[in-house]
Amino acid sequence: MTERLYYHDSFLGEFPATIVEVVPGSRSGIVLDRTAFYPTSGGQLFDTGTLVSDKGKVRVAEVAEDQGGRILHFVEGDGLPPGTQVRGQIDGARRRDHMQQHSGQHLLSAAFVRLFGWETISFHMGGESCSIDLSTSSLNPQQIGEAETLSNDIVLEDRPVDIRFVSRDEAHNLGLRKIPPAERDPLRLIDIRDFDLTACGGTHVMRTGQIGGILLRKTEKVKHGWRVEFVCGNRALTTARRDFRTLTEAAGLVSGHIWELPEQIRKLQANAKTLHKSHRDLLEEVASYHANQLLNQTREHNGRKVTVEVFRDRDLEYVKLVAQRVVRQGTAICFFASTAPTPAIVFAQSAGQPHHMGALMKEALASLGGRGGGSQDLAQGGPERIDSLDRVLEALAARVRE
Ligand SMILES: [Zn+2]
Repeated sequence: MTERLYYHDSFLGEFPATIVEVVPGSRSGIVLDRTAFYPTSGGQLFDTGTLVSDKGKVRVAEVAEDQGGRILHFVEGDGLPPGTQVRGQIDGARRRDHMQQHSGQHLLSAAFVRLFGWETISFHMGGESCSIDLSTSSLNPQQIGEAETLSNDIVLEDRPVDIRFVSRDEAHNLGLRKIPPAERDPLRLIDIRDFDLTACGGTHVMRTGQIGGILLRKTEKVKHGWRVEFVCGNRALTTARRDFRTLTEAAGLVSGHIWELPEQIRKLQANAKTLHKSHRDLLEEVASYHANQLLNQTREHNGRKVTVEVFRDRDLEYVKLVAQRVVRQGTAICFFASTAPTPAIVFAQSAGQPHHMGALMKEALASLGGRGGGSQDLAQGGPERIDSLDRVLEALAARVRE
């Protein structure tokens, strides 16, 4: 069994080892007699780095643990044979990032227990942010603020973080935050002095100050509780910097300070709403004039006016407004269409007229393609072809004029 060097020293960045086995597969996995590489487990991501031998340097792209407890180092390019002496080198920046996130998670989980008695059900470490799921049915911004403050206080106090090994029996009397159901015996405990004691196999900082800081972000209700997203250390810095850039850009667009953004956006929204309403009112007014004009230039047949109009630069909304006004302002039947941005047809007749607009629409679409339909007095359709639009509308109009 591989000796797990990271169990005792999370800051060990280089170590000598011997390849004891190469496990074949779609990617062959190198097994060492001892390793400081952390394999993905317990919510924490794997380490990357290199293995240096007298044959050169290979990059360790992923590290995983198989069901038998073997730690498999997956390397890029040609592997190395068993018996090779190597020098393992961990990617230090990535390891430090993981230690900051994982140790920050311990603090945060303990803070939620201390403040509100909520257990952490699960922990997820992603490439950009981390999250914990809490056993609670509600969570408000004030509680988030309290947990953030308490966990950052512990960061600032720079408390020691010790690694201890105890038997399972001993562990039961120590008041651990969490005892894993099936963990090796002895248990490996992470002891944040007088704040949190829990069993964990991951890599952690030596003092809480090394976490740097904990920033809580999005919260969301999930099936079994609440999910809290957070970032620690350098990630908190990167994230805050990116947020600031985004806010600054947005504030530039409204020529204001970033703290005034919500107020400015509310003003813009109210403004847009007013403009939309006044645009709609004007459109209705113009449509009324337009309807009058069409009625004035149309001759009457058998007590009604039949109008045909293909609008080349007006949308469906406007065409419908004009049609509704034409049939209201006179005794009329309209055969209207719009060709842009989306081709559309509108048929309408004044109340009491004998035709059926829905049926005439079906007839028109039988030759133009597309879908549509409607009631006796109003119908709408979307034709597939518009090349013979004028001819089809004129033919229907000629029929109802008789
Ligand atoms: Zn841990």
